[in-house]
Amino acid sequence: MTELTLTLKTGREKSLMRRHPWVFSGAIQSLGGELQSGETVRIISSTGEFLGKAAFSPNSQIRARVWTWQEETVDEAFFRRRIETALDTRKEHPGLINTNAMRLIHAESDGLPGLVVDQYGDVLVMQTLSAGIEHWREVIADALLEFSGTKAIYERADADVRELEGLPIRKGWIRDQADLPLTILENDLQFYVDIEAGHKTGFYLDQQANRAVVRSLAAGKEVLDCFAFSGGFTLNALKGGASHVTAVDSSASALDLIQRNLELNTLPDDKVELVQADVFNYLRTLRDSRRQFDMIILDPPKFAPTRAHADKASRGYKDINLLALKLLRPGGLLVTFSCSGGVDADLFQKIVAGAALDAGVNATIERHLSQDVDHPIALNFPEGSYLKGLVCRVASG
Ligand code: SAH
Repeated sequence: MTELTLTLKTGREKSLMRRHPWVFSGAIQSLGGELQSGETVRIISSTGEFLGKAAFSPNSQIRARVWTWQEETVDEAFFRRRIETALDTRKEHPGLINTNAMRLIHAESDGLPGLVVDQYGDVLVMQTLSAGIEHWREVIADALLEFSGTKAIYERADADVRELEGLPIRKGWIRDQADLPLTILENDLQFYVDIEAGHKTGFYLDQQANRAVVRSLAAGKEVLDCFAFSGGFTLNALKGGASHVTAVDSSASALDLIQRNLELNTLPDDKVELVQADVFNYLRTLRDSRRQFDMIILDPPKFAPTRAHADKASRGYKDINLLALKLLRPGGLLVTFSCSGGVDADLFQKIVAGAALDAGVNATIERHLSQDVDHPIALNFPEGSYLKGLVCRVASG
């Protein structure tokens, strides 16, 4: 089948020449014919130079997403190669050996824009987020099963971004099925994963290495886990020997999940207090009642999806970090994260520094944290980097 051509406006080829895979609608000069959603199109510069092959998305501002920078055929064999490569890289990471859950495909960073695939034991959860992935969905599903050796795939095609792509919202099993709820094993801890309705695909896989960091630092400490969701940090702090953990989340179902995860691991619940509250308010309540902690974890939801939200998000981050720093005993640890794409690591560090200044505490950064290795960041796609964290120690004198 001959592919149609998409010609860019003069001077608009720069980002593609740097191999950034998105073509915005405003950069397009002309289309060589009528293209269906998800169809492959050849992209050329205004002077006719070949730039890449991409999936066309007629409804999105991101009108095309590049599959390849080479003159190669985008067909079933192409997707099989990409998937096999992505899965092979996961096998090289020792940190991922002690778990049966990991991200297998991290979208653009694995050369598959709009595809996220997470493995939970024998089940894959596939997020199909772009027109191109929708187009190749069946081929991709078959290749995923073949190379991962799993049997069942649950599709979460219910993210808001699908609406921007003009794609229908749906979810459900697309290959075989498994009994729910699923449980996964990460090191020696089991967790329930709600693949049907949980955040993301059901679990925060990106925090795996950071959970181990918290565990390694928790011995004997009184811990406050804010935005606790299913208790990843709470359970690891307990396993690491924390004397007590207060876990806070605004969602009743999240707290219920933590309770069930504690039971699943036969962890004593007399060392845990589960609090349903808004973290912004609750931190103030703790401050007013002069409570103190040895370690505070702040892992809020995305405050700034894009740079346009950065100002408002910065105020939110500063608020919670300032309050948390005030609640720490001398020598205490703040483990603080941002998963906002619109707030980069530099800005985040500045916000935390500003919070410390206003809180009147001296603190040092002991570690910079990031998303785990199964969430790689293509150098040509900095947007793939979204999670950053700091471990800060409040001065003891
Ligand atoms: N730390 C978790 C992931 C956090 S996700 C882990 O490692 O698994 C963010 C969580 O924040 C969600 O569970 C959500 O219910 C909760 N949340 C969002 N806004 C909140 C608020 N203002 N106060 C308390 N919890 C909030």
